Amino acid sequence: CGIIAILGKSAVATALVDALKRLEYRGYDSAGVATLEDGVLTRVRAEGKLRNLEARLAEHPLHGHVGIGHTRWATHGRPTEINAHPHATGRVAVVHNGIIENFRELRDALAREGAVFHTQTDTEVVALLVDHALERGLSPVEAVCETLPRLKGAFALAFLFAGEEDLLIGARQGAPLAIGFGDGENYLGSDALALAPFTDRIAYLEDGDWAVLSRSAVTVYDAGNREVTRPVSLIPAGT
Ligand code: GLU
Repeated sequence: CGIIAILGKSAVATALVDALKRLEYRGYDSAGVATLEDGVLTRVRAEGKLRNLEARLAEHPLHGHVGIGHTRWATHGRPTEINAHPHATGRVAVVHNGIIENFRELRDALAREGAVFHTQTDTEVVALLVDHALERGLSPVEAVCETLPRLKGAFALAFLFAGEEDLLIGARQGAPLAIGFGDGENYLGSDALALAPFTDRIAYLEDGDWAVLSRSAVTVYDAGNREVTRPVSLIPAGT
């Protein structure tokens, strides 16, 4: 039930977990993080409390400088490690809060094209739709732009892409997501509390918005794919 994503200057796994601890108050049943290890999407996930995830990370440390993290409150699919986020293919990893209402139709359509599903979640269709678009040769930005209008329901999403060391994409529809503006680093997070350790400057996405982040720039688009600016607010000291 919480999202954090970091484009950092050094390894981000510890910071991802620390931010997830700040989102624990929302409740959760499992958690996970993914970073790029030499460009390869690598995930570590665990059922239960964040200390279980930390124990896994101690056995399998992640070193990537860009990553995404998630605490899950299961809506579709039991709270197992397999169903924990991030969900990933070789090309893309995604974390999701909310519900994809039309996931059954999307899953049936993907299955007719030969897609194989590994989880019981509504979220896995998002990873597969973006993956198929990438497979067809679309760029990550094009693939997300094409996929978002197909999703019905409430969601906050953050995407990480294989081989893309300087890219994160976020999207919001009916579930909160904010951008954090850092110094040579940028972030996505569910709320100000998650972002407060990294920056005091944030901007909340509005419904239908999606955002493309690098370490040096952030571009926000509305539901009609027009570039927009959203007001930057200051997080009060002590948050
Ligand atoms: N519907 C998704 C799932 O069950 C996301 C739940 C959440 O918001 O954490 O995996």
